[in-house]
Amino acid sequence: MDLAKQLEELLGTTEEDYLMMGLMDIELNIEALKKGYYQKHFRTDLKRAWGFKCYHCGEKVKSDKDESYYIVSITWKDPNAIGRRFCSKECADIFYNESMQELLNERQQILDEMDRLQQYLQGYKSSK
Ligand SMILES: [Zn+2]
Repeated sequence: MDLAKQLEELLGTTEEDYLMMGLMDIELNIEALKKGYYQKHFRTDLKRAWGFKCYHCGEKVKSDKDESYYIVSITWKDPNAIGRRFCSKECADIFYNESMQELLNERQQILDEMDRLQQYLQGYKSSK
């Protein structure tokens, strides 16, 4: 028995509802990803410099040497994550685009599944 069927019996949720919930989840995650991608400027009043390594290329970024850096947060995977830090827009874009593509693929899978279900239901009605 698949998960959709189990949910249907437990909650009275149909496969269509289940797909719809999945789709809404993905839409929210896409919005969250867009909002979670931004440029951040180092504070200029820091007493001590701090730094990090770029999540993508490993280059060192330091508050006394660089002006700003980029953050991409993927909160749906880990709500407590503060986000990945990047040295440049180029590095951040690569991670952002990969994460976005992952979400778009998931969305497409759900849309395909909805199509399939719709065709199945139509076939069911016309056979009556
Ligand atoms: Zn980098």
